[in-house]
Amino acid sequence: MTEPNPATAAVRAGLASDPSHHAVVPPIYLSTNYVFTSPGESHGYEYSRSANPTRQAFASAVAGLEGAANAVIASSGMGAVNTVLHALSAPGDVVVAPFDCYGGSWRLLTALAEKGLFELVLVDFSDPAALAAALARRPSQVWLETPSNPLLRITDIADVAAHAHAVGAVVVVDNTFASPVGQAPLRLGADLVIHSTTKYINGHSDVIGGAIIAADPALHERMDWWANTMGVTAGALDSYLALRGLRTLHVRMRAHEENALALAKLAQGHPGVEAVYYPGLPDHPGHDIAVAQMSCFGGMLTVTVKHGRRGVDAFLDGLRYICLAESLGGVESLVAHPLTMTHAAMTADVAARAGLVDGMLRISVGIEDKDDLIADLSDAFDRVAALTD
Ligand code: PLP
Repeated sequence: MTEPNPATAAVRAGLASDPSHHAVVPPIYLSTNYVFTSPGESHGYEYSRSANPTRQAFASAVAGLEGAANAVIASSGMGAVNTVLHALSAPGDVVVAPFDCYGGSWRLLTALAEKGLFELVLVDFSDPAALAAALARRPSQVWLETPSNPLLRITDIADVAAHAHAVGAVVVVDNTFASPVGQAPLRLGADLVIHSTTKYINGHSDVIGGAIIAADPALHERMDWWANTMGVTAGALDSYLALRGLRTLHVRMRAHEENALALAKLAQGHPGVEAVYYPGLPDHPGHDIAVAQMSCFGGMLTVTVKHGRRGVDAFLDGLRYICLAESLGGVESLVAHPLTMTHAAMTADVAARAGLVDGMLRISVGIEDKDDLIADLSDAFDRVAALTD
């Protein structure tokens, strides 16, 4: 029998598998504990921190989309990052991570390095000399975020994985921005994928969650052990909602991409805009790599408006369909000011090195009607362009 295509697998994940009442949608198991048959003998499930049927249904669906057998589902994306860092690190290890990673990841990496769990080397992955110097330190882990947050820089996963493996490092890719529809890091050579399932996978801005997907079953077992031991596994209700969201991931990603590309083209050349970052634009510096390794450019678009903070205020003052809010990946359009919001944890020098500037706005383009979004954004850019020096 041939395997279903990913969109079919996502829609049908776990359907018609209820042995009790033959429900089409798998039921939610809120129970914290399960009856044993005899001391030490269970029916499979024992205690919901260790394993829960609803969480497992979501885990199997996410894992399938990333091309793996199983996944660990954490209570947040940061819970997933924290689990991997604790599972893989020992004092004396070197961890290589992007200099422009998500602000929360930067904060955790820095805090754990300061506690002595590992030595942190932050690199610009687009600089081959800097990457070679970092790999010469023989890191235990190399972390990638591509497209990066918020500048949507693209890193060649297969190339970095080959070089990192040559020095014995485990390669971890944060695939939150692309989603499993956009790229498949395990197939490109990564060892581990993590997601903030809060974003595209759930897709409705009503669940905080994370996932860890390992290519190797032994590595999966290690992650599972640490997630249970640290107590970061997700609850049943969140898992249920996230699985419901995942069923529509493929159609949502296409709609996000279509809208984001239209808005990116609108931003290009607009007199109120200084710079546009979207990997689907042919003049994006990472476009060629993105074409090679991505099958959907996604819905994240970053722009730098003219007039710095004044421009940002003019842009925001009058938006109709785009909320000023953190997070991304929901059906609704959001805009964030990275310097003061998503990346506020970064020190000023780290943020400047990562390329964050005052006039920068990160837009999570939703799936509203394209013409409405174009009209809203066009008015916002016009307000910026009308400012005088
Ligand atoms: N990774 C990326 C790329 C993110 O953007 C975020 C959150 O914004 C996280 C990880 C952390 O996820 P969570 O907020 O679910 O803990």
